Amino acid sequence: MILSVNRMLFLLLSVFVLPAQAWEAGLAKADITPTESVPLAGYGGKTRMSQRVDHPLWLKALALRDESGAISVIVTADLVGLSDKMITRIAGSAKEKHGLPRERLILNTSHNHSCPVTEDVLWLYYEFTPEEAAAKDRYTEQVYRAYDSVIAAAIADLAPAELSHEMGLAGVAVNRRRSRGPESRALPGPVDQDVPVLAVRSGDRLRGIVFGYSCHTTALGGLSLNGDYAGFAQVELEKSNPGAVAMFVQNCGGDANPLPRIRGKDVEAVSLAERYGLILAEAVNQVLAGSMVSLSGPLEVAMGEATLDLQPGLPLAELKERVPNLNGMHRREFEHFIRQYETGEGPPGELNYPVQVWRFGTGLTFIALTGETVVDYSLKFKDTYGWNTTWVSGYNNDLFCYVPSLRVLREGGYEGTLGMWEYGHRAPFTETVEDRITDLVERLVSE
Ligand SMILES: [Zn+2]
Repeated sequence: MILSVNRMLFLLLSVFVLPAQAWEAGLAKADITPTESVPLAGYGGKTRMSQRVDHPLWLKALALRDESGAISVIVTADLVGLSDKMITRIAGSAKEKHGLPRERLILNTSHNHSCPVTEDVLWLYYEFTPEEAAAKDRYTEQVYRAYDSVIAAAIADLAPAELSHEMGLAGVAVNRRRSRGPESRALPGPVDQDVPVLAVRSGDRLRGIVFGYSCHTTALGGLSLNGDYAGFAQVELEKSNPGAVAMFVQNCGGDANPLPRIRGKDVEAVSLAERYGLILAEAVNQVLAGSMVSLSGPLEVAMGEATLDLQPGLPLAELKERVPNLNGMHRREFEHFIRQYETGEGPPGELNYPVQVWRFGTGLTFIALTGETVVDYSLKFKDTYGWNTTWVSGYNNDLFCYVPSLRVLREGGYEGTLGMWEYGHRAPFTETVEDRITDLVERLVSE
């Protein structure tokens, strides 16, 4: 048999240059809808017990195996957040059962404000009766089991796949500073309305849609369980793309709300949240219908921690003097700080801040920040590392607290100043916060 030179060159390239199969991907879903009435999360004040289920709540996982054979997993959740305790247990179990290193597991939550309370997430918000606490604990165990099963199922589903990425746009997010009283309206109020999309295909079959948005999931605040606008968007995407698993990643939505919102009228509010979901789903579907940039491996991962300093807290004498005049969450905050003085060295003056970076060849750098990250971080890192090739997500790891930029910190207000005590932290960050995070991201990206 005689081969032409061109044909021989092609065969040689196929064997030595073109990878036979760069990616394997696996997708899975685990239902985390409570089976009883449970305390609702997200808002402090009087305990709210769930009364209805608008649609099921989910954990969803994407497992990836690149050409090096290493497995990485991202799990998204219709939950308000996770705590350090939960992260330790979930990641510990994934390591034990699948040998999954911590840096190869990203745990993102949608920051859903219409989900149940789990474990000790935002624990200073709530005061439960023994029955409510028991319902919360039963639900927490259900969630732990679901994390185990969804990670195992995604890994078991690994099969040859192609990955591609592109950015869409949806105008639902409004900067919170523009919506809080006449003075705040003067503030410029940046938002990030990009909708990054990662598509997972095996041949003609669309198997997975990972999409993100930077906006609080706070369109709703009633007594229903649902995934807020992000949940409705996932429902719509799975309906319009049968067989695909749609996963929502919360990006840097710390200082953005979906607006307008309707308060106190459950039915109208649900229909508005559903419409926001439809808008977001349509943005994703438009991206999927267009041309997307194919992603090559390997998947290079890095993880590190920054040390974030806090300003001084209130002295013990002042806490003790003020606590008798407080009640509810504020009283619990002060009692927490007093306990920290009485059982140790007082409230810690610094917090460890984990960051993960996953790089998909040259096509996409996925930066996973921790906590309630404000929009400036997304805009800044996309500006630094490339607008169309950088995806900056927040709300990974534990819920932590608001993570202000220097601008937001200097403006004051809830995100990063008034909102620190309710996360159990003694005071706002110092003005080094943005630089410390930026330096860490720079180090991890260049690694
Ligand atoms: Zn929040």
